[in-house]
Amino acid sequence: MNDRIIESTARASAPETKRAVARLRQDFPILHRTVHGKPLVYLDNAATSQKPQCVIECEARYYAQLNANIHRGVHSLSQQATEAYEAARDTVRRFIHTERREEIVFVRGTTEAINLVATSYGQGLRPGDEILITEMEHHSNIVPWQLLCERSGAVLRVAPIDDAGELRLDAFERLLGPATRLVALTHLSNALGTINPVKRLVALAHAAGAVVLVDGAQAVAHLPVDVQELDCDFYAFSGHKLYGPTGIGVLYGKAALLDAMPPWQGGGDMIREVTFARTSYNDLPYKFEAGTPHIAGGIALGAAIDYVGMVGLPAIAAHEHALLAYATEQAAGMAGLRLIGTARDKASILSFTVEGVHPHDVGTILDDEGVAVRTGHHCAMPVMAHFGVPATVRASFALYNTVEEVDVLLRAIRRAQEVFG
Ligand SMILES: *Cc1c(COP(=O)(O)O)cnc(C)c1O
Repeated sequence: MNDRIIESTARASAPETKRAVARLRQDFPILHRTVHGKPLVYLDNAATSQKPQCVIECEARYYAQLNANIHRGVHSLSQQATEAYEAARDTVRRFIHTERREEIVFVRGTTEAINLVATSYGQGLRPGDEILITEMEHHSNIVPWQLLCERSGAVLRVAPIDDAGELRLDAFERLLGPATRLVALTHLSNALGTINPVKRLVALAHAAGAVVLVDGAQAVAHLPVDVQELDCDFYAFSGHKLYGPTGIGVLYGKAALLDAMPPWQGGGDMIREVTFARTSYNDLPYKFEAGTPHIAGGIALGAAIDYVGMVGLPAIAAHEHALLAYATEQAAGMAGLRLIGTARDKASILSFTVEGVHPHDVGTILDDEGVAVRTGHHCAMPVMAHFGVPATVRASFALYNTVEEVDVLLRAIRRAQEVFG
């Protein structure tokens, strides 16, 4: 073992870290269940993370004590529900450091946030305009732009990655030009774990006159995010990968941009006045929030963010980094294992293939051992194509994972090699 692995393992298995993680694990009821008679080892956090008791209780308490539709009623319940929902918006605002609360639009998740921008902001695009994405994008940050290109006549450009899974900055810069209207890129790749140098990429895109949307679905649970510091124009994320509920997410947009954009869905809450002759629209952010939202989800997302804040993102990042370093070094030493995604700046994701064993078979053997990982293309088929594989096995870490769980994973991989080797 080299120094780095010893250091990482030491950090992740230091008694104080172990005690802190053991304490945090108590907050997650699902971590106490078994799968096939084995303790659950949950390493599918990039698909969705588990929920702490405070988030589960927050949703239940809403339905038990507050349930009412918001923004409409004069009765007490409606007012209290509205206050709780709007307080969650302030929590989100502080979490990603936006200048104004109107810049936080509640949506269903990252996918819906990106579709909102493609549909609404996209109305300003003309034939010949260009949209630049990267080769490492999730399908949610590819397909809405393809649809927009079909509607508008704009052209989709793709900045390539290298064989470590890093964005090729030279190519990215070359692809930016006077026709580039919009750049959409991920902060943290869900298939590779690569962290993009977003601040620098935003500056380059702005210099070319393009607006930038950042897909923060993975990043928000692993990195402190300050949208003003990044200076991105839009930032999208989901609650459910951040220890919060499914069905709730956030679109941040700079107020001046959101203000100038047309609504994308019509209905209740997004209007000021409706007649059959014409309708005027509500102020930000409500202009983009048609219909009754996921009220309980929004409030519980606030609870999830408070929980993450209590643990502290820097501490979470340091712990996950130690786990990833340990898992990477161990995996790199295993015969027949190929790591997919070896960027210098990475977080929380170990993606790999096992020679001679199909990823789904690896996943099945791991499941027998109680280990939950994702196998497949991870909604990033172009990434799979780049590396010439149909699928990978992906283990992804969260604040409650341990070195012992990584060891269970590694043992189960060896078992898969024996069974199928
Ligand atoms: C999960 C994910 C999405 C999609 O998020 P939804 O919650 O399914 O809308 C988009 N981009 C990345 C990088 C993701 O990891």
